[in-house]
Amino acid sequence: MTGVDEGRRPVRSHGGLPRRAVLLAGAAGLAGLAGGCATLEPAPRVPLPLAPPGTDGPPPGESRPGAAAEPTGADVVRVHHLGCGTMCPVGGRLMYGPDRAGETRRLVCHCLLLETAAHGLVLVDTGLGLRDVRQPRPRLSPFFLGLDGIQLREEETALRQVERLGFSARDVRHLVMTHLDFDHAGGIEDFPDATVHVLGAELEAARRDRQGFIGRNRYRPLQWDEGVRWRPYDVGGEPWFGFASVRDLDGLPPEILLLPLVGHTRGHCGVAVRTRAGWLLHAGDAYFHQAEMDPAAPSCPPGLRAYQRMMEVDREARLANQARLRELVRARGGEVAVFSGHDAAELAALRGERAGTAAVGSSGGAT
Ligand SMILES: [Zn+2]
Repeated sequence: MTGVDEGRRPVRSHGGLPRRAVLLAGAAGLAGLAGGCATLEPAPRVPLPLAPPGTDGPPPGESRPGAAAEPTGADVVRVHHLGCGTMCPVGGRLMYGPDRAGETRRLVCHCLLLETAAHGLVLVDTGLGLRDVRQPRPRLSPFFLGLDGIQLREEETALRQVERLGFSARDVRHLVMTHLDFDHAGGIEDFPDATVHVLGAELEAARRDRQGFIGRNRYRPLQWDEGVRWRPYDVGGEPWFGFASVRDLDGLPPEILLLPLVGHTRGHCGVAVRTRAGWLLHAGDAYFHQAEMDPAAPSCPPGLRAYQRMMEVDREARLANQARLRELVRARGGEVAVFSGHDAAELAALRGERAGTAAVGSSGGAT
């Protein structure tokens, strides 16, 4: 909490902050709704529209010679939904919604750890890293440390969770990034042997597009300036359910795709993963709250809506991509489980609580 407390100071002094950032922080403060992370009540279960999944591994005889480019889900043996960061934002229920209870009264950093048959471990987003939680300054911005109420918990880092599953950092061969904001890229340097797959436009933005208060504070080069093996991509490849895509990621099976969903940042992507049970779509920060994907009556807690506007680089593109994702959920919700990088209820629903049957297993005991 030391880092969080230190981080609040710049929020109060806010020299040079953009007006919308000040308004957001001020409104939240006036509302008297400082973030708090309740821990006593059980998390409610919020079902996601994914058909009951299969279990481990490809069945014998499923692979077909000559069909390697067709995603079958056979290579993704097991999926772990990891919470690699906890945020108790200023604004409290204005950020996570009034109906949340227990452990869903927070924002999370939802990452995927994929055990594959032939490509080692693949991590989709990295959350906060070991050095972020051990020494948050100056890696993280004081503004976001305070506004987001970032909790510094070593046990939540992807590295520590990978180790608890019996693997080592070197087993993680690939990092597939939705984007390079501090709360997604913090763990990159914890996996020195991994190739980091990212849209080229995002890498460019993170390196060069750091003008302005938000740009400087969201992208933190200290998180990824040491020996990172980048693999940037241009958009190209067969569309996926109507979405432009990057297929054939280097060294990865066709089960894992990047889907540009720009607007939150210049090179923001979703990451689609084919499992034997169906598709998962990690939508990153294309949206933040599950209610935004309600096809009939989308909504968003007001603080979170303001936060998304503060962070966006292209509102028109962001809202258009949200609409496309809603349409995907409406039309294909039985085939594709769509989830945000930060909704704690979605993470809870996709972890072990769905019980017993989960291809989408928990960090501690996937089947
Ligand atoms: Zn984020």
